Amino acid sequence: MTGKKLLLTPGPTPIPEEIQEEMAKPIMHHRTPQYREIFAEANKGLKNIFKTSADILTFTSSGTGAMEASVVNTLSKGDKAIVVRGGKFGERFAELCEAYGVGVIAIDMKWGTGPDPKVIEKTLSENKDVKAVFVNLCETSTATVYDIESIGRIVKDTPAILVVDVISGLGSDEFKMDEWHVDITVGGSQKGLMIPPGLAFCAISKKAWDLVSKSTLPKYYLDFKKYKKSVEKDDVPFTPAITLEIGLRKAIAIIEKEGVDNSIKRHTDDAEYLRSELKKMGLEIFSKSPSNAVTAAMVPQGIDGGALIKALKQKGITFAGGQAELKGKIFRIASMGAITRKDLDRGLSALKDVLKELEVKK
Ligand SMILES: *Cc1c(COP(=O)(O)O)cnc(C)c1O
Repeated sequence: MTGKKLLLTPGPTPIPEEIQEEMAKPIMHHRTPQYREIFAEANKGLKNIFKTSADILTFTSSGTGAMEASVVNTLSKGDKAIVVRGGKFGERFAELCEAYGVGVIAIDMKWGTGPDPKVIEKTLSENKDVKAVFVNLCETSTATVYDIESIGRIVKDTPAILVVDVISGLGSDEFKMDEWHVDITVGGSQKGLMIPPGLAFCAISKKAWDLVSKSTLPKYYLDFKKYKKSVEKDDVPFTPAITLEIGLRKAIAIIEKEGVDNSIKRHTDDAEYLRSELKKMGLEIFSKSPSNAVTAAMVPQGIDGGALIKALKQKGITFAGGQAELKGKIFRIASMGAITRKDLDRGLSALKDVLKELEVKK
């Protein structure tokens, strides 16, 4: 094994040293002016990155906690929701709705493709009682980015709210919450935001707050109203993940120093580079609408996908495999967050070696 271990997985992602150092400092108490200042600064930064003036609520959970919060705070038993289902994370929204007795109208796509906004428009016009549309910005399991801007244009003229899970895409794929008429943005800490897992976010539009006031699904820890009341005073209803919040403030300072749009541009260039290098190696890109956060390539014929990932791990490089129906068929390389061009080059070079080794063996 040469050099340090390198995570090129779509969450968790590598954490810059300056953030690790910040998080290694002694713990502080959260009911203090010092903590409230950190929290307020982090929230202001998140608004910049989400491109919204909406309130942002922070939960101590993995990303799925905020996905669940977006369901239980807006809907009531027997409500109907449209769920765009093009991979594992679309499926998760559907499972969450079903767990709470919400009727799911699924828009299923071939994995690796994005939803046709016209299909969403038609489904909404045929189901006027739909309360919410759930969709991902980047469907991480297929490395596919969805056209949220077009979907937002459609949903905004209906009574339904648009809920977008940006957990993996944020910071890599373009996203503009307010301009694109998104009502709830769901985020998480361990991907583009470059900090460890454990924080999750919901940004909430006025249209969504109206629905929140009518929702009767059970909730306690994830109750938006509790967090809203606190956040107005730069406070939190329960003990926050203090250390992660301190890390988040640092991460935001790093992103703001580069500039949110510059950061997205860099990730766009890096992902294009990654795709073109993979193609030069004779590999096929899996997604028809590839994300800038993570790239999926087809495992070449005759090569065992599991063995490929394992051989890379022995060289200190972690790629992600395929999930569910894509297991063994694709491998995924993340380029989100703090992952650099140099990291990608290291991953690509190891991949070249491993493919050669496996070709010889077969
Ligand atoms: C990682 C991810 C999540 C959240 O998963 P957790 O394991 O709960 O953090 C949700 N949606 C997408 C698109 C993701 O990539």
